Amino acid sequence: LQSKLPDVGTTIFAVMSKMALDHHAINLSQGFPDFPISDKLIQLVNKYMEAGKNQYAPMPGVPELRSAISKVIEDKYGYLPNPETEITVTAGATEAIYATLAALVNEGDEVILFDPAYDCYDPSIRLNGGIPIHLTLKQPDFSIDWNKVEESITHRTRVIMVNTPHNPSGAVLNHEDLKTLEELAIKHDLIVISDEVYEHIIFGHSHESALKYEGLSKRCVAIYSFGKTFHATGWKSGYIIAPDYLTKEIRKVHQFLVFSVNTPVQYALAEFLNDRENYIHISDMYEQKRNVFQEALKDSRFEVIPCHGTYFQLLSYKGISDLDDMSMAEKLTKGHKVASIPISVFYQNKQDDKLLRFCFAKNEDTLLKAADILCKI
Ligand code: PMP
Ligand code: GLN
Repeated sequence: LQSKLPDVGTTIFAVMSKMALDHHAINLSQGFPDFPISDKLIQLVNKYMEAGKNQYAPMPGVPELRSAISKVIEDKYGYLPNPETEITVTAGATEAIYATLAALVNEGDEVILFDPAYDCYDPSIRLNGGIPIHLTLKQPDFSIDWNKVEESITHRTRVIMVNTPHNPSGAVLNHEDLKTLEELAIKHDLIVISDEVYEHIIFGHSHESALKYEGLSKRCVAIYSFGKTFHATGWKSGYIIAPDYLTKEIRKVHQFLVFSVNTPVQYALAEFLNDRENYIHISDMYEQKRNVFQEALKDSRFEVIPCHGTYFQLLSYKGISDLDDMSMAEKLTKGHKVASIPISVFYQNKQDDKLLRFCFAKNEDTLLKAADILCKI
């Protein structure tokens, strides 16, 4: 068999979670909460399962959920997507990203993305005949060099992918970034894929959704994840907002990837979203966790990198060890029993800045225990 992805192994999230499990380490690697989801939400899923909502949902998602999503998006970003033609409920953001790239990228199209990049982007582009053009985010703040972006645009560039708040760095794009992105996308007739799965996890900034910008809203695919928002990563539930001419193409792929997604969960989410109280305090909750983790690490030898959003904290071990980041992550997991994610895996050229990513979507107890270990290193 000729592999379509000869250079790709098992995703780092599976590798590190397994290593954590095998070595009984505190798992701050793969990003998922260790606390329960809302009781109300569980009861709602039960309610709809008991009410018989257990068969295939409509292909684009149940109308009640699409309608609830449109209200939330209008409320947050001042843009009202049409639930009939511009919203598609997906099996998490991962399926959304894949379906979007499969629908919109043609053989030989160039797709600009920024390293460190979330690990499914590059293979999903290549599997669909696209050519990933990796640009590196500027250090130390992981910002975008827009001059470099413009220089990299060719007649074959079709898509530019952004992610704000950014996994793994915790950086966020600001108003100027979005204005520049809008200008470039219009000037060069590009489609923007905006991965906004951490829209509700942002500290001291307001989330700059692409949907807030009229020029972008007409040419962008914005991607969201209920798994991230409601601490239910195992539900694999998310959605896409895109103008009708893009949604039409994306749904052609979505219908043959999964057809539709979990029905009772969709009804439950629809009812849950109708109460703003259920999602407006998420940033505060995570900011508190970030602060607890950072405070507990202040006397450690790790350098704490600023985190403006997401539930990931980067720590630099430059002052501690010369090991490459994969070896350091392995040593911490097996020897010290704290698992993290090495950042070099998110770079095409495997750039090693001696940075590890720790997930702080955890109970305070877990965070304090992990920090206590890290302080002794
Ligand atoms: N994009 C980013 C930036 C992520 O961190 C993740 C992980 N949640 C995803 C996409 C995939 O999300 P989901 O679990 O909903 O598939
Ligand atoms: N998004 C999660 C992270 O960054 C992992 C999701 C996955 O395991 N595929 O850790």
